[in-house]
Amino acid sequence: MKTIELSSELIKLHKYEGSADKSAAVDLIKTYLEKNDLHVELISSNGVVSVIGSTKGRKENSRKIILNGHYDTVPPSDQWTVDPFDPVVKKGELWGLGACDMTCNLAAMINTAIAISKQNLSSEIILIAVGDEEVGGHNGTGATIAKGITANYAVIGEPTAMQLATGHKARLQIELTAEGKGGHAAYPQDTKNAAHTMATALVALEKEFKLKSHDHEYVFSHPTMNTTLISGGTAENVVPFQCKATIDFRLPADIKIEKFTAKLTQLLPESVKLNIQKNEPGWISDEKSEFIKTAQATLEKVTGTPISGYLHKLGASDARYYSKAGIPTINVGAGNMKLHIPDEKMQLEQLRQVEQFYTELCKKI
Ligand SMILES: [Zn+2]
Repeated sequence: MKTIELSSELIKLHKYEGSADKSAAVDLIKTYLEKNDLHVELISSNGVVSVIGSTKGRKENSRKIILNGHYDTVPPSDQWTVDPFDPVVKKGELWGLGACDMTCNLAAMINTAIAISKQNLSSEIILIAVGDEEVGGHNGTGATIAKGITANYAVIGEPTAMQLATGHKARLQIELTAEGKGGHAAYPQDTKNAAHTMATALVALEKEFKLKSHDHEYVFSHPTMNTTLISGGTAENVVPFQCKATIDFRLPADIKIEKFTAKLTQLLPESVKLNIQKNEPGWISDEKSEFIKTAQATLEKVTGTPISGYLHKLGASDARYYSKAGIPTINVGAGNMKLHIPDEKMQLEQLRQVEQFYTELCKKI
């Protein structure tokens, strides 16, 4: 299948995600890889299946490069003007759910792995198609690493509009609990309102982490926060004895979490306790490494555009699992995340370029 056909077949299967038949994409990728003579292994974790495709009969000590893409997507909104599960090409773009993030890039990686496996190269390509990325990746990429699937290098196919991404921020999710003294709302002298204590805490944090610039590199290199959930109180005329708030911090990739949470504790009133719910590391590559230089030269050749700086992403991706495992990682994908919206689409010229990039890079490794 051509990459555009494979992309379309995978987009159609997004309608089965979240249903009993969610293995449809896994079946298609497995069958397609096997038909093209790749060795296929399935890794299952809590109902999420990852497909690993590699060249048969390679030597143990060959250099390995992972091409990692996810087959899951987010559910469609009702603002689509076309059927999100019925892909269509309009003016050089493929429209369909997940086209940009990142079904088309996954299809390009699959076809790259097949093309490279037919060539007699000393290096080995390991194609990894995972689910679960949209909800954290623990049962997808995380599970493949736990099962020992590793390599010398890794490439993530999240859409970057053909820019070379070399890092993303860390994420820290905390829950704050403010304790007070409940009672009737008419008797403030006998109560301590936990919601008011929480308000004091949130104002202090908001002041500390207020954005001082909207510049992308500033946001990348500084901690930012958003309060995402608040709950408290039992009735409209009862003083809450407890109030909880969830805060989503995005932090510089190299931050020391213990030091950071110690600083947070200092900013909070004494009756507010802090509990870490999620601590997801960031990712930053060695931008002076040979791997990055090779990727840059290859990308410049394929796109015909000189690269003046690397992309530092604010949102997380599965790159952090490889980074944590000590595997040098890059992220290059076709498509602009701004098009990961209702009427999501992929520019076919970029898709052609990205497949060429994956292929050329794999040959050079
Ligand atoms: Zn994605």
